[in-house]
Amino acid sequence: MENVDVLIVGGGVIGVTSAYYLLQQGRSVTLVEKGEIGSGSSYGNAGLIVPSYSIPLSSPGVLSAGLKWMLKSDSPFYVKPRLAPDLISWLWRFWRHSNASWVRRATPVLHNMGENSLNLYSRIVREEGLDCHYQQSGLLELYRSHQGYEEGKSAAKMLQRYSIVSQLLNSHAVQEKVPQVRPGIVGGIYFPDDAHIDPARFVRQLAQLVASRGADLRTHTEVIGLNTGGKKVVAVHTTRGDFRPRQLVLAGGAWSPEIARSLSLSLPIQPAKGYSITIRRPDDFPELPLILEEAKVAVTPMGEHLRFAGTLELAGLNLNINQRRVEAIRRAAETFLQIKVSSQNIVEIWRGLRPCTPNGLPVIERPARWENVIVAAGHCMLGVSLAPATGQLVAQIAHNEQASKRY
Ligand SMILES: Cc1cc2nc3c(=O)[nH]c(=O)nc-3n(C[C@H](O)[C@H](O)[C@H](O)COP(=O)(O)OP(=O)(O)OC[C@H]3O[C@@H](n4cnc5c(N)ncnc54)[C@H](O)[C@@H]3O)c2cc1C
Repeated sequence: MENVDVLIVGGGVIGVTSAYYLLQQGRSVTLVEKGEIGSGSSYGNAGLIVPSYSIPLSSPGVLSAGLKWMLKSDSPFYVKPRLAPDLISWLWRFWRHSNASWVRRATPVLHNMGENSLNLYSRIVREEGLDCHYQQSGLLELYRSHQGYEEGKSAAKMLQRYSIVSQLLNSHAVQEKVPQVRPGIVGGIYFPDDAHIDPARFVRQLAQLVASRGADLRTHTEVIGLNTGGKKVVAVHTTRGDFRPRQLVLAGGAWSPEIARSLSLSLPIQPAKGYSITIRRPDDFPELPLILEEAKVAVTPMGEHLRFAGTLELAGLNLNINQRRVEAIRRAAETFLQIKVSSQNIVEIWRGLRPCTPNGLPVIERPARWENVIVAAGHCMLGVSLAPATGQLVAQIAHNEQASKRY
């Protein structure tokens, strides 16, 4: 049994940024990851750092659209029908939070964390010299329907209350910014403060940095059991040895509920599968991420690549690829843009599991019944956006070594 100071479970963007800030606090860090660093949801996502996306998924709008989409397997939001108690309880809680009063409470929390993260990203990238295609060039939402554009405008107006700046663009102005858009766009909404990154490059480079500063990163090391004694975790069993941590950070993304089960912690997190298609970037594609709104597909330039990412499928902890959903992303890309997505230019098709809570807020807390456990999971569609702020919070909670509150 190895005695360690802080043991982090999970080498995704949350685990690695936590390691970064824990080291800054002078902690000694060991991180175990069952695969490679950044091989979970943090690998092929859209890489958007978007304080403008601060409205939680559980909002009144999603209920009406969601009910229409829910059972259609190539729609942006799909629930695979199954009688799993955890899914039923999650859907019930999601429904309970899908109201205006919850949106008013959750939006400022997400926005504050998002803004804090945005500032931390630019500082980390600059000060540490990371080469991960970080750009702060804003985000442009594209609309093909008048109804969609009206809904987008009212959301943008609501976000102005939180000082989230946006500009409305007519179809001509959209065309000027993105020459590849197809005719038929009725308008766009531009959020100038947002940023984007290549998430896998960021996570891997930050991991190398923390390793060079003394963090012990153990890949292909899977946590298979935990033992407790009193109010503490006293042993963490892995496929490559056992640890006795002073502090344990659970950053296992969509797998966190599984890992936490032996602590009798019931984390309300459902895996929400999404897909991305990465192609070689057309020469003249601007350095500007897009959201193809009616299809809910994000388009992110990442160096020589262009990534299309989207769809949300509640189908449990399974990583099967559903070709119909990949095809829906390809179709959306070609409907909005004059870009061909084919085997000629596809670099990679990927799927990952977003760790989704029913209220849209991550769980970053020290659970009351465990004195040496910190949970940092459940970041839904915003794990990249919120990672540095989460890492800082984890380091603060570890520093205080006292109970913190769940949002
Ligand atoms: C299609 C798509 C697009 C997205 N776009 C964006 C975006 O634009 N912006 C944004 O902010 N977010 C986006 N997200 C969400 C984002 O990817 C996640 O919120 C984020 O990656 C979660 O990070 P994490 O570190 O919690 O989880 P992960 O990256 O999944 O990391 C968890 C790690 O824990 C490891 N692990 C699990 N169990 C064990 C165990 N027992 N022992 C050891 N290790 C274990 C896993 O292997 C994994 O590497 C997107 C997601 C998807 C699917």
